[in-house]
Amino acid sequence: MKVTVLTGGVGGAKLVLGLLQVLPAADVTAIVNTGDDFRHIGLHVSPDIDTLLYTLSGKANPALGWGRADESWNFLDTLRAMGGPDWFALGDRDLALHVLRTARLAQGQGLDAITADFARAMGIGAAIVPMTNDCVATQLDTDEGRLDFQHYFVARRCTPHVRQVHFDGADAARPAPGVIAAIHGADAVLVAPSNPFLSIDPLLAVPGIADALVATPAPVVAISPIIAGKAVKGPTAKLMAELGIALANRSIAAHYGAWIDGLVIDLGDDAPPGLAIARTETLMRDHADKARVAQVALDLAASIAG
Ligand code: GDP
Repeated sequence: MKVTVLTGGVGGAKLVLGLLQVLPAADVTAIVNTGDDFRHIGLHVSPDIDTLLYTLSGKANPALGWGRADESWNFLDTLRAMGGPDWFALGDRDLALHVLRTARLAQGQGLDAITADFARAMGIGAAIVPMTNDCVATQLDTDEGRLDFQHYFVARRCTPHVRQVHFDGADAARPAPGVIAAIHGADAVLVAPSNPFLSIDPLLAVPGIADALVATPAPVVAISPIIAGKAVKGPTAKLMAELGIALANRSIAAHYGAWIDGLVIDLGDDAPPGLAIARTETLMRDHADKARVAQVALDLAASIAG
């Protein structure tokens, strides 16, 4: 069963880890948000791709929720001592990825090819595909003015009040090679329980991706990031409140609209009308949780496909 997953960082990586327990790795393709990508001290950083690479290869730092386990910080300490910017932490081991990616991009190589090589080098069997090789930058209109995503997320710790979200450059972006084929050719398309507004919307803003989701013969099943009226982590809940959107599954369903066929929701939560629904505990703490949520989503997709 070929499965394509639309994903951001942490929430999505957990689902992909679950899929890899129940499917052969060669059947799994993750299409990853790159709206959070940015340049920092000359380096091209791709936070969501890196979260997938580190999580799927068992190198992620679960305590921090980003970066690598077993990390040291000599580079950052030295940078700070030299008066350099230390608001975005780059660990010594993590640094290699950013340096190599930046050098290869400067030689004219595509982010898709670079990411595929990194995944191979880390022993990851699933395909990890950026949504686009072009530059798309998530920006937020806030009460402090327009902020780049990483400035809002890391430097300002999501405190500014968000009025609107923009995906700068999306209009002219093209889906990365393989993205549209992975949506059309899948037996099931899953939307990870990632932040709909900051992690999934950038993908939908790349011309061609939303159309492919409408046109694909595959059932499309989303996993809700909302559990008991709360978001598991990150700025999802705060952002939804600021945008005037109720923290409920019906909001997630309405936001995605007609291209999703099914929704996986937590046991006691609201079931939006007009969609195929599967219920399970959707909080993915351990390997067993991840495998169960992935299997429930696949079973729902199979039942929709008939
Ligand atoms: P980021 O790019 O690293 O911020 O991560 P994502 O956008 O992929 O994920 C953030 C979202 O994932 C948040 O809205 C969380 O509510 C959701 N999330 C994280 N872990 C889980 C989980 O175990 N279950 C569910 N249902 N949602 C989760």
